[in-house]
Amino acid sequence: MIDDFTIFSRSGLILWRKSFVKLRGNPLGLLVQTVLLEDRVALAELVCDGYTVRWVLENEAGLVFSVIYQTALPPAYAADLLVSVKAAFIDKYSSVLGDSNVDDFSDFSVVFESLLNAAEDRSLSRAAALRSANVCPTISSDAMSTVATSSSWSSSSLPSADTEVPETSSYRGNSKYHSLKDEAAEQCDDNDVSHDLSEDTIRQNREAFIRRKQGSGGRPKKSSSKAAGSSRSLMGGLSSTSDRLEVPKRNALGSIPEENEKLDFSDDKSQEAVTDNIARYVSDAEVARCREQHLDAKPNTAYDIISADDDQAADSNSSNVRGKVFDFFKGLAGMKMLTRTDLERPLSLFRDVLIGKNVAQDIADRLIESVASSLEGKRMESLTTVSATVRQALDDALTRILTPRQSVDIVAEIAAKRGTGRPYVIAFCGVNGVGKSTSLAKVCYYLLNNNCKVMIAACDTFRAGAVEQLRTHVRCLGENAELFDRGYGKDAASVAMDAIRKAREHRFDVVLVDTAGRMQDNEPLMRALSKLVEVNQPDRLFFVGEALVGNDAVDQLSKFNAALADHQKSAKPRLIDGIVLTKFDTIDDKVGAAVSMVYTTGQPIVFVGVGQTYMDLRKVNTKSLVKALLK
Ligand code: GDP
Repeated sequence: MIDDFTIFSRSGLILWRKSFVKLRGNPLGLLVQTVLLEDRVALAELVCDGYTVRWVLENEAGLVFSVIYQTALPPAYAADLLVSVKAAFIDKYSSVLGDSNVDDFSDFSVVFESLLNAAEDRSLSRAAALRSANVCPTISSDAMSTVATSSSWSSSSLPSADTEVPETSSYRGNSKYHSLKDEAAEQCDDNDVSHDLSEDTIRQNREAFIRRKQGSGGRPKKSSSKAAGSSRSLMGGLSSTSDRLEVPKRNALGSIPEENEKLDFSDDKSQEAVTDNIARYVSDAEVARCREQHLDAKPNTAYDIISADDDQAADSNSSNVRGKVFDFFKGLAGMKMLTRTDLERPLSLFRDVLIGKNVAQDIADRLIESVASSLEGKRMESLTTVSATVRQALDDALTRILTPRQSVDIVAEIAAKRGTGRPYVIAFCGVNGVGKSTSLAKVCYYLLNNNCKVMIAACDTFRAGAVEQLRTHVRCLGENAELFDRGYGKDAASVAMDAIRKAREHRFDVVLVDTAGRMQDNEPLMRALSKLVEVNQPDRLFFVGEALVGNDAVDQLSKFNAALADHQKSAKPRLIDGIVLTKFDTIDDKVGAAVSMVYTTGQPIVFVGVGQTYMDLRKVNTKSLVKALLK
């Protein structure tokens, strides 16, 4: 049984619709937002809010045919119905489709009724034939593979529905979290916040994470990681039959590998075990060295890929791009109709270009497939080549992907928060050595120059020298920056909480929270990060990543997000919501990591590091970035 069938133009106009029930939420809107606008048309299905949405495109006329049904009750004839309705609709109205005076297609209802009956009959006969041939008659959405393109979004790698579901009471989560949080706010010193999550809770979080991402315009993923138990859940949790969502595995009993236990500061015992040997002062020589490197050295002026303050450009670009998002698909009339064969060679060349620019292979494949699906069956404009057509389509797709959906103006966000009694909090996370502390210092410098009073919370309580490194930066950055630290071995979540409390009392505008570098597979440290985030609810959680990374960018980000979702109790766990891309000055024009990271998370690149001085921080100029990618 289907719930809805809609025929609409790629510019968003509904031509004809049949709804059998009132739908919960807006699955069709999600289809437009997360599939059509984000170039994921190569996928075959979207699963959201208990519904599955499937679609076929008619590229020449610029139409989308979509069917919606309950995921739990997949009709075996959905794919068949899509194909037959598409053929019948085009056949019936081909002569009037371009005519803006014709907008009444209500007489299609009769045709649809008979097509639906016919598709149901065919499906029943197929099932009967299979039964009589003694083949397992379970026809589910698999039967749709007749139409399915390369992939589908689903959560089929999740534990099955009949896996035992824990009782709600086992969550204890929110109330416990709130009370402990309050308690910790009252008793500041070294107050650890218990954060154990049961395996069941983690599983539920994981399921919720996937469901939510499927519903929120998330990102597709492909599991290319070789690591056992690796997570490929890209932010957005969209998966495909060929690349399903894989969530990180614990060891057999869900316990922490022994060698990592000592790294886990979220337990009381580890707090006791580590000595507080913090250096309270850094030497003048150290500060002088820092000043020379980060403040007095010549900043990088060579970059046109990113501009100093391009938010406005990005924003106007955003509405522009989204406003005319389908313009490209309109008006390709009169000339040759593009076939898959025509597209193959140019697409393959552009795929190589993207990979040569360091776009992760999975992402390049998906982009190319998406562009192919959008172009196949279209008529080329006159006076153009297939290659130019593909290039333009790819340019548009990359621009849409890289254009932030919302403004990323941190200074404005900070200003909006003034007077609320709580400072604006940004937490920085990422793997070791990528430039987290340096980026944090650069952001601090940027904010100081925007008249903010900044507190830096030293929550890397693990790496020797981390606190002193920040102390040195603070000495260089001047009197409007202050360091809050509690030495080493302390629970990072509690240190951050104390810092925020102190910042609130002393009217700081911003708290920048430094966290320990961690590999994406290090579960204890991921749990500690989740705790810090959940307990302190930063306004932004920035992932700091190197522009040098290729395929690993996707792995890092998807695993960070999966772990964050796994280890938070909240029904709405906080995930990465901004990216700082470092060492852009070292990659020449291999700027592909930017695409991989944004595509993976759906989150914007907020800052780009282009050198070692505090001044070497930029915002992204989408146009220049796309130009560099396709050069
Ligand atoms: P963390 O371990 O992630 O905190 O990394 P650090 O902040 O200590 O940085 C590691 C190294 O990367 C240091 O030598 C930094 O000077 C360098 N670094 C950070 N950002 C950039 C950047 O944008 N460009 C270049 N060339 N080097 C950077």
